[in-house]
Amino acid sequence: MGGFGYRSLILRFITQFYVKPSNVRDDSFVLTGEEAQHAAGVLRHKKGDRIVASDGLGKTYKGEILSVSSKELEAKIEKSETGRNEPKTEVTLVVGLTKGEKLDWLVEKATEMGVSAIWPFFARYSEVKWDKGKVDKNVARWQRLALAAFKQCGRSIIPRIEVLKNSAEVIKRKGDRELIVAHPLEDGGLAHESRLVGRNVIAAVGPEGGFAAEELEAVRQAGGRLVSLGPRRLRTETAGLVLLAKLLSLKAEL
Ligand code: SAH
Repeated sequence: MGGFGYRSLILRFITQFYVKPSNVRDDSFVLTGEEAQHAAGVLRHKKGDRIVASDGLGKTYKGEILSVSSKELEAKIEKSETGRNEPKTEVTLVVGLTKGEKLDWLVEKATEMGVSAIWPFFARYSEVKWDKGKVDKNVARWQRLALAAFKQCGRSIIPRIEVLKNSAEVIKRKGDRELIVAHPLEDGGLAHESRLVGRNVIAAVGPEGGFAAEELEAVRQAGGRLVSLGPRRLRTETAGLVLLAKLLSLKAEL
């Protein structure tokens, strides 16, 4: 892993910048656009200052500023690290599409908690009817929220957000991940799931209308597990966060 030595104690609380992967060279990296403006205009960084930037794909760089303007900042790479502040395994959050801004909140919080991807999907009981334009507009907004949360919390991966057209699409992409689906049940909470440790996981919650019987059946057939989050019915976005918290703490990755 490496790390940045004792200075990382200080640096980890310093603003992390986003550097486009294509702007990383062998021994330097370049911030452009809003990132350069933020560094130069807001934080007033000067030549010689040290900054931290991540490429959103897992690499984090610590560098010394060589030149800075409100349009462009170039820094000499002093150290690089892979997977900084990331969980050891991948958690994908799947969430039934619901109306309103609820998912904005969940995208931000799930990013802070360390998910590697978010797949909102058109569930049988999703009440949204979005055309492609509306889907693209929402994904662009969520991706911006994920970027802001990634910077704020000091991760090195920006979760990739993709809208899937139905639950069958989710199952098709399952691969060898564990599939854990929250559903109100009499019993069957997540406890003593040591087999989840070290595994990549899909954590799924339904839309406000819940999952349809045929969706739950498809989950069972795909080897997925239905789990309860307790006796009270939670909102989709609350359920998403609670499921993530339980999973990550069981996997000892919170
Ligand atoms: N009317 C729906 C409830 C939907 S709540 C029903 O009876 O199924 C929205 C989603 O949040 C659910 O699909 C489920 O994934 C999750 N959820 C909410 N409360 C839960 C609980 N107590 N246990 C497990 N999952 C829950």
